[in-house]
Amino acid sequence: MLDAVVIGGGPVGMLIAGRLHRAGVDVTVLEQRAEAAPGSRAIGVHAPVLAALEECGVTERLLADALRVDRGEARSHGRVLGTVRFDRLSTRFPFVATLPQSTTEAVLAADAPTVRRGTTVTGVRSEGDRVRIDIDGAEPVLARIAIVAAGVRARDLVFRRDALRVRQYPDRYLMTDLTAPGPPVAVVHLDGGGVLESFPLPDGRRRFVAWDPDAAAGAPEERASRMRAALDQRGEHEAAAALLHASAFRVRRAVAPSLVRGGVIVIGDTAHEVSPIGGQGMNLGLLDAATLAPIVTEWLRSGRRPDAELRRWERDRIASARTAARIAALNTKLGRPQGPTGAALRRAALRLLLATPAEGALARAYAMGLDRAA
Ligand SMILES: Cc1cc2nc3c(=O)[nH]c(=O)nc-3n(C[C@H](O)[C@H](O)[C@H](O)COP(=O)(O)OP(=O)(O)OC[C@H]3O[C@@H](n4cnc5c(N)ncnc54)[C@H](O)[C@@H]3O)c2cc1C
Repeated sequence: MLDAVVIGGGPVGMLIAGRLHRAGVDVTVLEQRAEAAPGSRAIGVHAPVLAALEECGVTERLLADALRVDRGEARSHGRVLGTVRFDRLSTRFPFVATLPQSTTEAVLAADAPTVRRGTTVTGVRSEGDRVRIDIDGAEPVLARIAIVAAGVRARDLVFRRDALRVRQYPDRYLMTDLTAPGPPVAVVHLDGGGVLESFPLPDGRRRFVAWDPDAAAGAPEERASRMRAALDQRGEHEAAAALLHASAFRVRRAVAPSLVRGGVIVIGDTAHEVSPIGGQGMNLGLLDAATLAPIVTEWLRSGRRPDAELRRWERDRIASARTAARIAALNTKLGRPQGPTGAALRRAALRLLLATPAEGALARAYAMGLDRAA
């Protein structure tokens, strides 16, 4: 019987596997993909994650590849409404570190054990003091502990279909990463037509995300053309000219009511899904993993299940996920299109908010300062 099995080799699975492996735990990662995931999703790593991963050396390696973004601006019709200052936060890392998710995953993979790729898990069941993990086309695996970090689609492995309340938002967004040199400042354009976000990335690149007026994603050329129009409307002409393609995504919200059952523990997107407009989904999962690793290590070392620690961990992670989901939902609402009166009210409210001490609270909330692990 194995000590620990991690199901899913995304960023969250790789982090917990790496922490356990480094602590001397015999841990195996089961991943259905033959190769690391392509495409770009999470781009921001926040201060609490950088603080949590500093001691093990991961932070230094992430920062070697990251751009440090120390402020964000809210703009409307080209005018700055106000600034959110991450560099004034009282934290050891007063900035958002931006880098592509694939780079974050590669950094995390360096500490993890070899991944058993091409392995699709079809069932996970706690049976007394062991967990049985069923695998498509192979013998089941038995382990003392199974950690499920297999993303949104693997929820059925552990939860009944109706155990989570999943809210689908009506909003759709377009997204593209492209070369668009500029200052290391995040910009949120808020005018009547819905939000356009522009985040700096390393190597003179930027991530653009635009609220999409079209109800259907449409063909690739239609998406690119709508994204070009969104960029042009906000004066981002160079980016519009450089754009070749744009992907589309929709947003959902779900937080699991429990994360621990017998020897099965659920973390990352399997446990919670928050709107990417909050920029916190991966960070939440990384904090699940960073805070869980010492508890699991001690459990396996002592042979005693640390019930009180597990309960505290579960309570804190669910509370943190609910907070992140609420912040993301607010961001999503704030970025919706408005008529002339609504847009004017939003501009006035933002101007006022960003000129008062509330700005500091906003920066803290955006940079995950409200997470229980912060
Ligand atoms: C457009 C977009 C933008 C985003 N931007 C941000 C951002 O800026 N900041 C942020 O913090 N978050 C962001 N997120 C969210 C972030 O990408 C996710 O929260 C993060 O990837 C979750 O990591 P994970 O390891 O839990 O799951 P995943 O990344 O989904 O990894 C799960 C892994 O498990 C594997 N797997 C699945 N099922 C099985 C199975 N049955 N057997 C074996 N293996 C399996 C999968 O192949 C995958 O490799 C964004 C998301 C989207 C969609």
